[in-house]
Amino acid sequence: MTLRALLGSALVAALASTAVPALADGELNLYTARHYDSDLALYEAFTEATGIAVNVIEDDAGALIERIKAEGQNSPGDIFMTADAGNLMSAAADGMFQPTVSAVLEARLADNLRHPDGLWFAFTKRARVILVRKGADVEGLETYEDLADPRFADMICIRSSGNIYNQSLVGSLIDAHGEDATAEWVQGLVANMARDPESNDTGQIRAVAAGECEIAVANTYYLARLARSDDPADQEVVAAIDVILPNQDDRGVHVNISGAGVLTHAPNPANAVAFLEFLAGDEAQLAFAEGNNEWPAVDGIAHATVLDDLYGEFVQDDINPAVFGANRADALRIMEANGWK
Ligand code: FE
Repeated sequence: MTLRALLGSALVAALASTAVPALADGELNLYTARHYDSDLALYEAFTEATGIAVNVIEDDAGALIERIKAEGQNSPGDIFMTADAGNLMSAAADGMFQPTVSAVLEARLADNLRHPDGLWFAFTKRARVILVRKGADVEGLETYEDLADPRFADMICIRSSGNIYNQSLVGSLIDAHGEDATAEWVQGLVANMARDPESNDTGQIRAVAAGECEIAVANTYYLARLARSDDPADQEVVAAIDVILPNQDDRGVHVNISGAGVLTHAPNPANAVAFLEFLAGDEAQLAFAEGNNEWPAVDGIAHATVLDDLYGEFVQDDINPAVFGANRADALRIMEANGWK
């Protein structure tokens, strides 16, 4: 046994002895990067409906991916659930998912909301939009491509190249324009940054409201969360922001997903598929999306009214997230090579 394998098995033993309960029929071990109380209520509803107990192991996506890798074929994990197609495609590239064939999931989810080989399925949608300060001179800012235009010099706040959401957005630009044009776009965007990347999406929104910059890029649920906050300071931030829905005359707004797939070494694969099918049901779709102010992946399910208030209806890029998710490594390389810190 190599040192690496030894370390790996020691790690597995340590992990197995701490968090994951013993396996039995009627169980499901869910590794999830989501952390909403409403999700827990949903898992209880699944148990009530099926008799299958759900053991929830929460951590951030990167840590869960490392853990699943370390556990290897001894992993008790049945399902890996996380936000962002970039994370799901990283796990897929490492062979972590097995293909799932489910008539229910195929009927409920549009083609572009599931991996072409059934490795993962989307359960919510979020969009990455442009947010600007009310009254700022952003005439002509209509597309992601425009963010690189010199007329917006020193106006943009955006988080780092290490952020998965930005990697996915750049991955979609690679698909739309190719690598060379995307590299040029990154150079233009970096030249337009008002400050070096720092903080999270909410931090960019607050910076725009505070006058540090005029333009931010953020996922839709962050502004929605502020809009639903009781804190007057959050309400002031929202009142200072206008939304720009990019690329309405061409491919549409960049839409990302959260989703889940059945792990390659799942000890309870049938339970795992039943769980995924449950997540695509009406009740779960409603609750799952509401938990983080996202849109349900299944058509015709209601969503939080705050999303209509802030964004209304808009043209969405219908690219399969598997495509831009698979561009993640190329996107990061191009971002770093062209000065995006
Ligand atoms: Fe987020």
